[in-house]
Formats: sequence, structure tokens, C-alpha cells
Amino acid sequence: MKVIIAKTAGFCMGVRRAVEMALDAPSSYQGPIFTYGPLIHNPQVLSLFSEKGVVILDQIPEKGHGTILIRAHGVPPEKKELLKKAGFNVIDATCPRVVKVQSIIKSHTNKGYSTIIVGDKDHPEVVGLLGYAGSMGYVVGSLEDIKHLPVFEQAIIVAQTTQNQKIFQSISAWAEQNHCHYKVFDTICDSTEKRQMEVRRLSKMVDAVIVVGGKNSGNTRRLAEIVKTEGKTAFHVETEDELNLENLSKVSSIAITAGASTPSWIIKRVLRGVEKKPLSNKGWWSTFFLEVQRFLLLTNIYVALGAGCLCYAMMRMMELPITVAALAVAVFYVMSMHIFNRLTGRAEDKYNDPEREQFYSRNKMPLKFLALLSGAVGLIAAYKMGQVPFWTLLTMSLLGSSYNLRLIPSWIFNGNKRRRIRDLPGSKTILIALAWGVSTTVLPAISAGSNRFFAICIAFLWATGLVLGRTAFFDVLDMQGDRIVGKETIPLLIGEKKSFRLLKRLLLFMTVIISTGGVLPLFSGLSFLLAICPLFMLLIVVFYERGNMLPGVRMEFRVESLFVFSGVMTFIYEWF
Ligand code: SF4
Repeated sequence: MKVIIAKTAGFCMGVRRAVEMALDAPSSYQGPIFTYGPLIHNPQVLSLFSEKGVVILDQIPEKGHGTILIRAHGVPPEKKELLKKAGFNVIDATCPRVVKVQSIIKSHTNKGYSTIIVGDKDHPEVVGLLGYAGSMGYVVGSLEDIKHLPVFEQAIIVAQTTQNQKIFQSISAWAEQNHCHYKVFDTICDSTEKRQMEVRRLSKMVDAVIVVGGKNSGNTRRLAEIVKTEGKTAFHVETEDELNLENLSKVSSIAITAGASTPSWIIKRVLRGVEKKPLSNKGWWSTFFLEVQRFLLLTNIYVALGAGCLCYAMMRMMELPITVAALAVAVFYVMSMHIFNRLTGRAEDKYNDPEREQFYSRNKMPLKFLALLSGAVGLIAAYKMGQVPFWTLLTMSLLGSSYNLRLIPSWIFNGNKRRRIRDLPGSKTILIALAWGVSTTVLPAISAGSNRFFAICIAFLWATGLVLGRTAFFDVLDMQGDRIVGKETIPLLIGEKKSFRLLKRLLLFMTVIISTGGVLPLFSGLSFLLAICPLFMLLIVVFYERGNMLPGVRMEFRVESLFVFSGVMTFIYEWF
């Protein structure tokens, strides 16, 4: 089945900003955290806030303490003052686009202008905007409404940011003809317009559309209505549990869109739910193949196989003899490390990949045993390789197991929250890449007694960079879930766009570095063949960015196949 995810699905800029501020608040401010009214119309996000101790406050008390967040729609200035007077630390999460409208109104009100707001008079944003116009504010919902207003000596016309463009245009055209001295400001945010245009376009291309979002969210309901007016079936669901797989199996193409208050982790979960749909049009083998992929990924068997393949490729590239011990170290150490990571990272998986979280919760004991067993086999194999590989791997394993331990006692840096290795931003991504790099290149080279220093350095840099690219890519996909649990990854620090830019540069650099190794020549012609690997990863990143590739089991499998691919290419090269 063809599945398309709308590019505009999910949080708009203003909602994302407000949600992120609310999620970061408990760790940034002392005392209780409140939001003034519900921050957004999404029950899952609101229950997440309440899990994190963020309480909704509907009435302003005379006395209060703690921090309060003002929602993205904004509030009248007097409410803000009342909150401050009550004793709250007020954090303004009003969308910058709404703030812009507020300041237009404020500056003109100060000069004696009347304000005409085109919008819905009960909408929280309009209520907030009216507060900036004082006694000189008026709300109109249609052309008829404005005709009934008195003529003002000086007035401005602004729009509620989510106002219908056609209504606003008709009003501003009328004002230009009849009261050309009125100043008109088109303050409509194009986010809603773009979302609706896209769903209209997608409805023409598919059999049905899944609209994800709160049943009480106006903009989400509107999306479902648009689908129906286009003559297509709309499935409006709040979560993946509401998906009717039987109904879905009757359609051969589907689009997924979501309202402005739907977080990406819910969209991802819905997409994973759609993946479970019986693939009647492709035959049983397709479902079977998907289940096999899922199992190999969940158990980390495929990741371990990839590490073995990468180790094989690196040994061949550095012209080292292939040894079973070196391959076993890469396979079992990586397997053990990844299972431990998953066991300790269940909190974020609850949002990023609930199926994995359930798998790890259900099979905690056997997986712990498997992690310990593979760690032990890796160490035995390292011992066979020699003293240095053994002690190096043992040190790496000990460092890995102290990842979650509080290494700095609280009395040294009172109140410092970065006391564990995992508290250092991006530490997990970098440590995973280094561990792969050492086990697949440095240890085999030491064991073989190779003295080709530059060749080893470049091979290490390349293998580490490739794994860094793969892990950073997954970090970008998991940004919202990671933020919820307070995990500080590199993408969370620098943002999604910058992360993708860096990732693409890194992969290009990896292509250049390995090809240079072949030109110098530090390596055989195999290095030119392996240069395809970072390019392959680059293609996945670009396809994902353009919306041609969807997150889910299939994409994860393709990314992990990168390393298996390096082994297969090496094998083919050797063969010929
Ligand atoms: S729809 Fe536009 S104005 Fe409203 S919160 Fe989102 S980005 Fe801001």
C-alpha cells in the first residue's frame, strides 16, 4: 500500500515552541509549573504534561507561587499583569506571530487608532488581541459585520492568525473602496492555509486520509471535513489504537495528516500502526518479511550482523588477515552494548517506539541475559586476540556500564545535574560511534600487529563517522520523545535543520575521506566501492527530508542495512 505523510502534518512553529517550553519548564524552574488554560487541544499531550507535573490553571488566584506559561494564543495584557501580581513567574509562550499582531495593535492604540479584528470573537487569540486595543477594539466575523460598524477617523484592520483568507480579502477590499484611510495589516499565518491546501491536494491522490489529532481540536476536524468534501474517506483518530486495520486493508493508497496540536511521536505511532495492516495486495510473504525485519531490529541481531560486516570490510580495507575472534568481538560487543542501551532507554522509547518499549519490558530478563552473554563472548574473543584488545574492550565495557551511574558526588558541584556520562549532551551518540569504530578497526589492527598508522586512523575515522551519521539520524527522528524524557541529544541542542545540514556534510566528508585513502593509495580499490555506503546513507537522509521515505520498520531496516551492505560489497570485491 502506498502511504504518504503530509509535509505539514503536526505542530506548527508556535505550538511546537509552546510545547517545548512547557516540557523544559520542570527542569529549568524551581517550584510548581502551571499553564494558564490548556496549552493545546490534544488530550495525549495534556496528559503527558500532567504526568510531568504541569498543572492547568483556569482561574487566577489572589496569591500563587511557581511558574506559569502563557499559551501560544496569548492573553490580554491585564491577565498577564494579574498573574505577575499574584506572585507567579510568568513565562510567555505566545507564538511570535501572535506577538507581532499584539504589538501592531498596541502601537496604534497608543496613537489613538481604533482596531478592527477579523476573527472569531470567542477564540482565545482574539480575546487576547482585544485586550491590546482597550476600549477601541471591535471584532468582525464577516463583511456584513464590518458594514455595521461606525466610521472611524483612524482605524486599523488586522486578522486572527488562523482567519480564512477569503473573508479577510473581501473585508480589506471593501475597506479600501469605502474607507481608504483605514490601515490594513494582513496578519494571517499561512501555516493553517498550507496544511489545508496540502490535504486537499493529497485527497485527490489517495483513496483515504488518516487525520491524526484531538477530537476537540477545531483545525484537525476541519482537515477531516476537507477530505470528505473531496469525496474521500477520512479516518479521524487520536491515537494508533483507534485505527481500524480491516477498513484500512480495503484501500490501496492512504495519506496521513495531522492537526497543528498533534505531536510527531503520535504521528509516528499511527504510521507504525498502518504498517501492521494486512498487505493483502502484496501476498503473505510481504507481511512475513516485515515481521522478520521487525524481529531482527528489536533483538539487535541485525545491528550486530552489521557490525560484523563492517569489521570484515575494514579488515579487508586495511589488508589485515580475517580472524573469527575479531569478527566475534565486533558482533557480540555491539549486540551487548545495544541491548543494554535499549534496556536503559525505555523511557524515551515509550514515545519514540512504543512497540520496542513493550518488547523490552516484556522480555527484560532474557534480554538482560542475552546482553550479558554476548558481552562475555565478546570479552573471551578479545582475550583470544591478545592482551591489549582484551583490556581495551574491558575498559570500554566498564565505561559503558557506568554510563548511567552518578560519577560526580552531589556535594562537589551542588545542584549540578550533569553528574552522569549520559547527562552530557550527545554523549550517547558519540560513545556509540566510538565504540563501533574501536571494535571494528582499532582492535583488529592491534591484534594483527599492523603498523600502518595512517591507514588505521582513516579506517577508524570512517567507520566512526558512518556510525555517527546513522545514530544522529535516528536521534533526529526521535527528537520529540527525547525532549519529553529530558534526554539531551545533539539535534535537540542545535535543531533539526542544522542537524540535517551537518549530517549531510559529515556523510559527504566520509565519502571523500575513504576515496582519498584509495587515491593515496593507503587502501586497495575496495575503498572506492565502500564510498557508496555514506552516499547510500545520504540518499536516505535526502529522501526522508523530502518526504519520499517514511519513518518506520522499513526505513530503520534500510539504514541498518548500510553496514551489511559494506560486508556484501567487500565479499563481492574479494570474489572477483
Ligand atoms: S498557527 Fe501560526 S500563528 Fe498560530 S500558533 Fe501556529 S504558527 Fe503561530
